[in-house]
Amino acid sequence: AGALHVVATPIGNLGDLTARARAVLAGVDAICAEDTRHTRQLLQALGIERPLLALHEHNEADIAWRLVERLKAGEALALVSDAGTPLVSDPGYRLVREVRAAGLRVVPVPGACAAIAALSVAGIPSDRFCFEGFLPAKAGARRERLQALARETRTLVFYESSHRIEECLADLVAEFGAQREAVLARELTKLFETVLGDTLGDIAQRVTSDENQRKGEFVIVVRGCEDDAEARLREGQRIYARLSEHLK
Ligand code: SAM
Repeated sequence: AGALHVVATPIGNLGDLTARARAVLAGVDAICAEDTRHTRQLLQALGIERPLLALHEHNEADIAWRLVERLKAGEALALVSDAGTPLVSDPGYRLVREVRAAGLRVVPVPGACAAIAALSVAGIPSDRFCFEGFLPAKAGARRERLQALARETRTLVFYESSHRIEECLADLVAEFGAQREAVLARELTKLFETVLGDTLGDIAQRVTSDENQRKGEFVIVVRGCEDDAEARLREGQRIYARLSEHLK
């Protein structure tokens, strides 16, 4: 039987496509893509011509069984999304589940992912983190989600588009406080790549005052809520430092 290859594609810079991804895309019988027009452009840039099948949230469940039949018949298929790693705030998990349920092989071909790229340059604790993806579009639901996350101690990673970046940052400030440490990563790997920090209040202010900072694609990395023990320890260290200054 064939295998389904889940292939990461660049999040902006074409150079980030791996050699293995290129070889797999060139070698499969067909490529399932979120947006076939978008993927055709990528393949053209790579000089690859392969049949494309549209797979998006609305038809995924319906066509999964057909793809399983093709895999059973021995075909090799690839799954890509518009950018980055499929299934990460992108379609694909239903297909992967069906393929695995049929006892067929699913092969990861890893590469770019905006969340991981942002974490890797944020300088915010990254040993434990929660990927939250996109916040709800409606203000009420967004506030509610943020309230539920306000005491989370792990680092939080959010995705956002230019349409809602200002509202989203305003709500983050309202629910987590302006002093919470955060980094905004914009247009990673692209021409206008910007990584700015250091607190939610500071980021919100800079995005509001500069129209250019509202353009493009964003990852927001927010430090988790410091648990009480950690906060007490820091306070202790602060007092100790003050005291030792006086005792000099
Ligand atoms: N599957 C993708 C991945 O692996 O990162 C994510 C797809 S999701 C539909 C698109 C969102 O990812 C954007 O709205 C943005 O939040 C984030 N994103 C994608 N490319 C980015 C980039 N170059 N810089 C910053 N954020 C990016």
